[in-house]
Amino acid sequence: MSESKDFLRTIVEEDLASGKYQEIHTRFPPEPNGFPHIGHAKSIAINFGIARDYHGRCNLRMDDTNPTTEDTKYVEALKDAVQWLGFEWDNSVRYTSDYFPELYNYAVELIKMGKAYVDSLSEEEIREYRGTVTEPGKRSKYAERSVEENLDLLERMKNGEFKDGEHVLRAKIDMAAANMKMRDPLLYRIRHAHHYRAGDKWHIYPMYDFGHCLSDYIEGITHSICTLEFENNRDIYDWVLDTLGLKSPRPYQHEFARLAINYTVMSKRKLLELVNEGRVSGWDDPRMPTIAGYRRRGYTPESILNFCDQIGIAKANSTVDVSQLEFCIRDDLNTKVPRVMCVLDPLKVTIENYEGAEELDAPYYPHDVPKEGSRKIPFSREIYIERDDFMENPPKGYYRLTPEQPVRLRHAYIITCKEVIKDADGNIIEIKAAYYPDSKSGADTSGIKVKSAIQWVDVEKAKKVELRLYDRLFKDEAPEGLEDINPDSLKVVKNALIEPAVITDKPDERFQFERQGYFYADPIDYTDETPVFNKIVGLKDSWSKKTKAAESATKNERKPQAKKVQIDGEVEPMSEAEQALFDKYTGELQLNSMVADILARDTQLSSFYEEALSINNSPVTIANIVANEVAREFKEKQADELRFDAKQIAELVKMVDDGTISSKIAKQVFEEMSKNGEDPVQIVEAKGLVQISDPSQIAPIIDEVIAKNPDNVEKFKAGNTKLLGFFVGQVLKATGGKANPQVVNELVAEKLK
Ligand code: ATP
Ligand code: MG
Repeated sequence: MSESKDFLRTIVEEDLASGKYQEIHTRFPPEPNGFPHIGHAKSIAINFGIARDYHGRCNLRMDDTNPTTEDTKYVEALKDAVQWLGFEWDNSVRYTSDYFPELYNYAVELIKMGKAYVDSLSEEEIREYRGTVTEPGKRSKYAERSVEENLDLLERMKNGEFKDGEHVLRAKIDMAAANMKMRDPLLYRIRHAHHYRAGDKWHIYPMYDFGHCLSDYIEGITHSICTLEFENNRDIYDWVLDTLGLKSPRPYQHEFARLAINYTVMSKRKLLELVNEGRVSGWDDPRMPTIAGYRRRGYTPESILNFCDQIGIAKANSTVDVSQLEFCIRDDLNTKVPRVMCVLDPLKVTIENYEGAEELDAPYYPHDVPKEGSRKIPFSREIYIERDDFMENPPKGYYRLTPEQPVRLRHAYIITCKEVIKDADGNIIEIKAAYYPDSKSGADTSGIKVKSAIQWVDVEKAKKVELRLYDRLFKDEAPEGLEDINPDSLKVVKNALIEPAVITDKPDERFQFERQGYFYADPIDYTDETPVFNKIVGLKDSWSKKTKAAESATKNERKPQAKKVQIDGEVEPMSEAEQALFDKYTGELQLNSMVADILARDTQLSSFYEEALSINNSPVTIANIVANEVAREFKEKQADELRFDAKQIAELVKMVDDGTISSKIAKQVFEEMSKNGEDPVQIVEAKGLVQISDPSQIAPIIDEVIAKNPDNVEKFKAGNTKLLGFFVGQVLKATGGKANPQVVNELVAEKLK
């Protein structure tokens, strides 16, 4: 179970404690109209996770009430996904379509109670009669039909006597209800279509609002967990069950925020479009955000579950940074998988003073104590290195092989460049080199200093492999669809060269190719003749590196070199001391592992953090500011240029914690502090940055924003709840970020009701 309890688990515990339920029973209810994506993984983790944590049960239910889009291949994909993530559903897979007879009986019962009627208005008229947010709707004249007539019509609708759209069954609730969903919602519609399971038996299909609550009830579900967009449907959920007098256990609906990730589309409709338009190779294309895609790419179930755990469960929608998911897979594989050498773009090196051949011993897990295993690497006078590991005219800070600078061949010897051979066009085609016989890795007595170690393979013994290098499928941070596709999301390297043990030994399916990234033997296309590897993820976040590089280039300033010499592209393992700190931070202090990782690996940052913590015991807030803002300053400036100290950070955080300023304003205050060394309290006072939490001060600003945006108010009231964020944003902007976001959220929601 995760460290801190989320609001759903709090509800579950209260319900168990009060005796409302004896046993928890949840369900994961996908519609089998596409492959499940990472958003479904979140829902799976929540529903199955809660059942597991509280010794309850979780059903896997196909919510298959729409005959035109559903298919058994999607049912199989959903089953696979749940199992791959490590969960077991209770009993056998359930299908809403199995309940069609029962649902029909409930509809008959509602008619008999005078609570449902067959309406014969056209779709357009139904919409018109519905009214608007400001005007009540008007009931159809057909609502006056007798019980007998309604029963007769429903029966004939079922038997296929009418055309699509000719009639619908509606609940008789309230055409003036403030919640527009309650204005006589549709319960059944006519569809003459073949259902992948029910065949051609049915000519009417239940609507979500009717089928879902009853399916939950039929299965004995206690907690019906869904995403926020169903908030307004909750009233219908309750109405149906209460009107029919269904109790014990009576399910209740609870909503959480759906997962959204930047650079990712997450709707089955859009994913289907990518598949149908041939923009990807299928639902399991390794660039797809589907569970099948991640799986084929090489992600582990653990990494996906860790991700779901890290992002938590919230009641407000937000977008998660895709680098957080990438961090989780890196974090999982870092210590687990063997490290081997592969050369993507080979440059031949002839070691002129080397004779014969030998086999070098190399551990698969050079940095990890508990895991053991090693292989032999063949070495001879002709090897390949990576083309960009040699430069004739290197820029400053280039640590690899140059005409002047020797380099270590990983697990082997130090070599030095003797001669550069070029073709007629001036391209480098070979390096003539010499090696130092007494520099053998592990027994180096040469005394020669090098700045890095590079990968290499033996010309004669290396094996050819195909690599599929994947990048993000979308170039746009908030992609809409096909038009935002990243044209470079797949690069195939046909003739990469790998050390032979990877192919002959097969120590694992996943590897770290040193300095290149993590790779996975493609489960479908891999053969011993043509080994194919998918790139799972790079060794570090190359996107943030790209943007940072671009930033510093525009600022045109030189940053001091990082203190530690890091082999390019390699995520260094933690020392014991760093690991201990990391464990303390993620354990006792409850920091997320990304923040903990940054702090634990940097003694300057961690001691700064601990000092601030000793003054103000607010571990999470301080950690966030130290790992982000303070870390950036440390990187950009020399120690004697820094204008703030740990005590001031502690004071700054105190103002955030006690609500004096918002965390957004805290960033602004930090900028000031780091520029001119002023005291945070003084800055806040002098600039009037104190947070506004008083509703009477905020309310008029909200009124103004509402008055200025009548169109969006209308859209919001018609059900586009996403616009809540827009209004909150406008209000915060109008106050220069000083309004307390929580208060604004609550007030805006209230005013828009
Ligand atoms: P999509 O809009 O992608 O088609 P959906 O909500 O229509 O998704 P369903 O198959 O109906 O997909 O959903 C099955 C379950 O998964 C539902 O309980 C739904 O709330 C949940 N779910 C779907 N998408 C997400 C998401 N992005 N984050 C969290 N849960 C999700
Ligand atoms: Mg859906």
